[in-house]
Amino acid sequence: MDRSQGRTGGIVTGGASASATFTGNRALQIEEPLIFEMGQAGRTGVDLPEPPKVEDRLNGLRRGGEIGLPGLSEPQVVQHFTRLSQKNYAIDMGVYPLGSCTMKHNPRVNEKVARLAGIGDLHPLQPVSTVQGALELIDRLAHWLKTLTGMPAVAMSPAAGAHGEMCGMMAIAAALEAKGERATRRTVLAPESAHGTNPATAAALGFTVKPIPANDKGRVDLDALKAALGPDVAAIMLTNPNTCGLFESEIIEISTAVHAAGAYFYCDGANFNAIVGRVRPGDLGVDCMHINLHKTFSTPHGGGGPGAGPVVLSQALAPYAPYPWIVKSGDVWTVAEDGATVDGQPLGRLKAFHGQMGMFTRALAYIMSHGADGLKQVAEDAVLSANYVMAALKDTMTPAFDGPCMHEALFDDSFLKDTGVSTLDFAKAMIDEGYHPMTMYFPLVVHGAMLIEPTESQAKEDLDQFIAALKSLAERAKSGTAAEAFKAAPLYSPRRRLDETLAARKPVLRWRPSNNPPGSDPMKQAAE
Ligand SMILES: *Cc1c(COP(=O)(O)O)cnc(C)c1O
Repeated sequence: MDRSQGRTGGIVTGGASASATFTGNRALQIEEPLIFEMGQAGRTGVDLPEPPKVEDRLNGLRRGGEIGLPGLSEPQVVQHFTRLSQKNYAIDMGVYPLGSCTMKHNPRVNEKVARLAGIGDLHPLQPVSTVQGALELIDRLAHWLKTLTGMPAVAMSPAAGAHGEMCGMMAIAAALEAKGERATRRTVLAPESAHGTNPATAAALGFTVKPIPANDKGRVDLDALKAALGPDVAAIMLTNPNTCGLFESEIIEISTAVHAAGAYFYCDGANFNAIVGRVRPGDLGVDCMHINLHKTFSTPHGGGGPGAGPVVLSQALAPYAPYPWIVKSGDVWTVAEDGATVDGQPLGRLKAFHGQMGMFTRALAYIMSHGADGLKQVAEDAVLSANYVMAALKDTMTPAFDGPCMHEALFDDSFLKDTGVSTLDFAKAMIDEGYHPMTMYFPLVVHGAMLIEPTESQAKEDLDQFIAALKSLAERAKSGTAAEAFKAAPLYSPRRRLDETLAARKPVLRWRPSNNPPGSDPMKQAAE
């Protein structure tokens, strides 16, 4: 029997997994069907009394058939969700070198504080008199963010970096509106290396995005920028350190030129980890910048929960900060939510309630447990780690640019030239070695890009092993005889390579019993 297509004892073996075992399991990595494919109708983990007979008032709309919920015992449910949780790779499991994402350790003190009853059990609709401490916590975090960035104001409510971009660009749009320039300044400049959210945000607000080329040092081409500046430009959206992992060394010239042209400087602060405690963006002429608390300040992100993207604002943009504003009058904290209670011209609300309280708490715990000196060391160690990786690999792999980097080591794929191995194959082989791949094919300006961000939270010996694994893979690839093996990777993961094109073109978005009769292959079915 071909187990790669089959199902045995409630265990579905994946179509894409070439399994040699009877069960389809790989050692203690257990295959997991969907919960709807498990169990039996009528089985239950709890014993409920018969419901009393009531006359329904559904006017004939009473459900006729079975509800179709899976019937499972309690241990089956517990095992199912525990096994699913083990299929998630996480920063708590090992090196997670995903560049631009700053996947750093979330210290357990953060979690402990976030779970304190007085914080964890808060409800946003509680009377303000009962949440005085929570409002003070938000204000204290706001104070740290303003101090660390050298900016006079901060909007706390945005729920992620991209949401913060939206907030900052809306503040810029509001400021232009107030000056009567909203209709004429319709262009937003963004370097070619920008994170995709930057042009997406500008376009979503109706701006036209104009790309600015990079020079051969991986930085903004200042002459090209100056040539693009004019009375039609609303703002530049620039990441610093940029997505090539490099500090924009002409940042002062850039901000001066942008301001001289009457435009604003939006700084994408996702890479703030590299400079926190060392450089204050306010001193660089930044008008607004989002801070990803889930990157720089270690709160969980990705599948781990919501992020938070507070936006610091210059004096010129501060009046437009969205509701709510946390204000103190006398000894009492209040939440200003309408025009009668604030001095500025808030651009509205970005979100129900006040922001991601759990993330605020974790970020403040992180900041206070490190202190000002510790935060500075965070940036220094993150940069040191990246340069350590860069220096160790620069003769085996090919750095995209000369010279030291900031917090990310960026390689291109020229070391793989003529080997038959692509960046994708290389990344898949890393999985077999027990490493989550680095960011691939981004930034787009670098061919076959591999962007490695080790952060400050990995021990040196773990980085050494990571470096040794990458060296060994690079040498195998360059031997010229391993292309087939690379193309077959990953060998040891629960799933091998998926047909990503098919999954993107014909996604199966809804599970139906008829979609998956026993023995069928969902990937094949999508193709039909
Ligand atoms: C992560 C990131 C963003 C977007 O942040 P989210 O919190 O994921 O929305 C924007 N720009 C850069 C450079 C980033 O790394």
